[in-house]
Amino acid sequence: GSTARILKDAIRTIPDYPKPGVAFRDITTLLGDAWAFRRAVDELVQPWAGAKIDKVAGIEARGFILGGALAHQLSSGFVPVRKKGKLPHETVRIAYSLEYGLDEMEVHKDAVKPGERVILVDDLIATGGTAEAAVRLLREIGADVLAAVFIIDLPELKGADKIRALGVPVHTLVSFE
Ligand code: IMP
Repeated sequence: GSTARILKDAIRTIPDYPKPGVAFRDITTLLGDAWAFRRAVDELVQPWAGAKIDKVAGIEARGFILGGALAHQLSSGFVPVRKKGKLPHETVRIAYSLEYGLDEMEVHKDAVKPGERVILVDDLIATGGTAEAAVRLLREIGADVLAAVFIIDLPELKGADKIRALGVPVHTLVSFE
C-alpha cells in the first residue's frame, strides 16, 4: 500500500490514555519498526532535500528522537526545545496553555544565530498550542522558521491552520480523524 497507509498502520492507538475518552496515538511502535522509522524520517525531510537548513529544533521529548534523525539527514545542527528548568545555560522561556492549565518551555538564547534557517519537528500536532509556542520562542532568538513537520496531524483540531497563520508552512504524514 501507500507509504502513508503503512506508516499509519505502524502507529498504535491506546484507548482511554491518559484519561477516559482519549485515543492516544503511540509512535513507539513506528520507531521500533526499522523500515517505518526510516521511511518516516525520509518523508519528513523530503521537501528540503538539498536545501541549506542550519538547525532542526525538536520539541521534548518525542521531537528529540525525530529531530536527531532529521538533523543527520539534512546535515544540520540540532536544537532542543525543553520543558522549563532542564537547560543549563541562559534561556528564553514562554508560557503556553495545555488542555488543563499552563506549562512553560525554554530554549537556549544562543541556540541559533540571527537569521539561521530552522525546521521544527514533533511527533504530533493537535491544537497546535505547543508548536505555536515553539515557533514564537525560536523567532525570539532570531530563527527563520522555514517549516514545522509532524508525523501525525489531528485535522479536526485545526492545529496546522494555527501554525500556517503564523506564516510557517506545515508538513504532516498521517491524519487521524
Ligand atoms: P497540542 O499542543 O494540542 O498541538 O498538542 C501536541 C503536543 O501534545 C505534542 O507535543 C504531542 O507530542 C502531545 N500529544 C498530544 N496528543 C498526543 C497523542 O495522542 N500522542 C502523542 N502525543 C500527543
